[in-house]
Amino acid sequence: MHQHVENLLHFAEKSGLIQARDYHYIKNQLYHMLHLEHGYSLKPVSISHPSEALNPILDELEKLGQLDGSQITRDLFDAKIMNVMAMKPSDVEYIFFKLFMESSRKATDWFYQYMQNVNYIRMDRVQKNRSFHVQSSYGKLDITINLSKPEKDPKSIILASQQESTSYPKCLLCIENEGFTGDYTRDSRDQLRLIEVDIEKERWYFQYSPYIYYNEHAIVLSEHHRPMKIDKKTFENLFYLCRFFNDYFFGSNADLPIVGGSILSHDHYQGGRHHFPIEKAKTYRSWLHEDIQYTILKWPLSTLRMTGKVEYRLISMAMQVLNSWQNYTNESLNIRSHTDDTPHHTVTPIVRKHGGEFTIDLIFRDNQTSKRYPLGIFHPHEDKWHIKKENIGLIEAMGLGILPGRLDQEMNDVKSYLLEGQPLPERSLKHQAFADQIKSQPSWDSTNIDHIIEDAIGKVFVGVLEDCGVFKQHDQQSMDAMTSWLKDVTTS
Ligand SMILES: [Zn+2]
Repeated sequence: MHQHVENLLHFAEKSGLIQARDYHYIKNQLYHMLHLEHGYSLKPVSISHPSEALNPILDELEKLGQLDGSQITRDLFDAKIMNVMAMKPSDVEYIFFKLFMESSRKATDWFYQYMQNVNYIRMDRVQKNRSFHVQSSYGKLDITINLSKPEKDPKSIILASQQESTSYPKCLLCIENEGFTGDYTRDSRDQLRLIEVDIEKERWYFQYSPYIYYNEHAIVLSEHHRPMKIDKKTFENLFYLCRFFNDYFFGSNADLPIVGGSILSHDHYQGGRHHFPIEKAKTYRSWLHEDIQYTILKWPLSTLRMTGKVEYRLISMAMQVLNSWQNYTNESLNIRSHTDDTPHHTVTPIVRKHGGEFTIDLIFRDNQTSKRYPLGIFHPHEDKWHIKKENIGLIEAMGLGILPGRLDQEMNDVKSYLLEGQPLPERSLKHQAFADQIKSQPSWDSTNIDHIIEDAIGKVFVGVLEDCGVFKQHDQQSMDAMTSWLKDVTTS
């Protein structure tokens, strides 16, 4: 174990996580924590990721009976090892803003790397994700099968079931998570560090997501635990953030159940340095009015793009369109703004800055349910649940499908069914029709089967997005209604 601790210290120093001056201090802290005896003189071996030292340290602790054999306890414990080497939040913030004076890019580059070095972003796990592209009539879409979260082992499941639930912190996005030790149901947040960003006298906090779904996947959360709300303030804040963090896009999940993200209880945005497929979407209709270019995108989710140079004009038009959408009903298209007093309409907004120009995308969402579609009319329909059943939030709406990790194993079952004629096991029976559909195609064999399966998954994902579109791209009447409504709102 001494050797691995030495390697870890060497990594920490080399990556700038700790200063050479702090070596003895940190070493003493770690030795005490791991119950190690002093007196060894060891030469460090270079490692490129903290997990290369942490995993063998944890293995040895398991052998010594100091851990309980569950993945969850390992994760909680290695966070504490890394946190010994981490700076206090105020020190991280000090360096961030010192670099920010030079450029926003320098500050975010440093902070992103820091969060990886301190192993808050577990890059070794993120790299396990399986990603591929799929060609569609909407352009190239991206798919990621999410394998970064380890499957819960039986021991972890038992420990989680025995965990008493507490209301501190209130949710995963509360500021109180910074340094939170975690428990059997909640991941450790020991090494979480946030950067305070004041927007118009309100306090917000910038952090990186521990599960990076795209490059520099960031979250900006409100100081207050209050529900998500899309209003004028949301648009203003997204524009502000795009000016503050150079080259980052910022967007928000919708603020209603079914069409929103997984956390509606805490106001937050997402951003990052990444280009999503929606940015390359083609034009369905476009018009210029005064200083704003309006474009209805050729995109499965119904989207209006507004481009212009003057921020307050775009914000005021975005509000006008949102207000109109919140009261838009078209019975023949199954679109209804309210049921009694319950509102159904909101948007998923995304803002980007290109040079002196801003772009805001408004993706129109409707969260009605019906007898036929109890989980949502504009939600993935049942024939696609074998691939994706969860809400379609901001990231997916932009054309990056995050699909459940179970698919990895299940697609191997499909492969065995196709290549070796093995019947699908219980867990993969839901893919029977999907597998038979591939089987009926003439052009697959053992050399291209992986690609054929990926392509078939991609097609289902396209269908998922089309289900969520309120105006249907393949229906002329629907697209005419969308065009004439939006022309009216934006040119009156
Ligand atoms: Zn909260």
